[in-house]
Amino acid sequence: MKPPESAFTVWDGPYQGESAPRRGLPFGSSSVQHGTAVFEGIRCYSSPDGPMLFRLEEHLARLLNSAQLLGINHDYNLDRLRQTVLAAASRSAQADCYVRPGLFAADPYLSIDLSRLPFTLGVEVWPMPSSADRTPPVHSGVRLTVSPWRRPLPASFPPRAKAVGTYVTSALAKTAAVKAGFDDAIQLDPESGRVAEATVSNIFIVRNATLLTPWLSESLLAGITRDTVLTLARQLGILANEGPVEVGDLTTADEVFCTGTASELVPAASVDDYRLPAKRPVFDALSEAFRSAVTGREFSHLGWLTPASAASPALK
Ligand code: PMP
Repeated sequence: MKPPESAFTVWDGPYQGESAPRRGLPFGSSSVQHGTAVFEGIRCYSSPDGPMLFRLEEHLARLLNSAQLLGINHDYNLDRLRQTVLAAASRSAQADCYVRPGLFAADPYLSIDLSRLPFTLGVEVWPMPSSADRTPPVHSGVRLTVSPWRRPLPASFPPRAKAVGTYVTSALAKTAAVKAGFDDAIQLDPESGRVAEATVSNIFIVRNATLLTPWLSESLLAGITRDTVLTLARQLGILANEGPVEVGDLTTADEVFCTGTASELVPAASVDDYRLPAKRPVFDALSEAFRSAVTGREFSHLGWLTPASAASPALK
């Protein structure tokens, strides 16, 4: 997959980016060399009232939390992050897009003491069509496999941090899964051996019309789409639980699906050699609710949409 030609980057901090065309980070950047950046991926959806960022506040809070978990010292507060992200979304003039803010140590220091490196906020905006445009959503389902590569031990890496380096473990699992003929991998908790998440998404199962997703005691990222689905399930009157999920729960489930900001809600067709039923009533209901929520057609009382036009006029 090639990077989008029309990516658009804004820097707000000590580092101001290389010159055209892509204003990227130098190869020698400390964060590039050591994987020590933290980042977010936020969706912006078109709506009758203009482009809207979905769950912006939760993403920004997670970014700050990731930085704190890694001991990164930086000058950004929530307001500055919000203004820069909104300005980038607004200036990119993309209606449906993916907005990636990240805190990077952009200079080529050899040090890995994150409390002393200068961190800069960069925001890249990519065009990304939304599933809300596909009505009805058509998905044959992804083929999943349980990976031998487990999630990191909490004693080795804080699972709640969305940091660049941790994606090496996701990449190992994904690469091995694709090589073996699957679309994606499910990773287990390193200690309990229970299901944690997929490589870049969280996982849900449905049994007897009840939704279950691994609880946050396993080593997994607390996905914002995961929270969205749990909230929407409750709004729809679907029983939804967080708890321990065994591998055997996947291979006896009525439905399995993954959730993530970029991928949204993706159903599974199979888990290893277990073929899931083709009918997915709970997934279908939640997908429909999700599409209504991201476009503001319903659930606006949940306050999940921030207009890109809320950027401060000086920064637009
Ligand atoms: N787990 C991992 C490892 C991820 O990279 C992502 C994508 N950010 C998720 C789960 C899903 O999180 P979210 O719904 O917040 O995008």
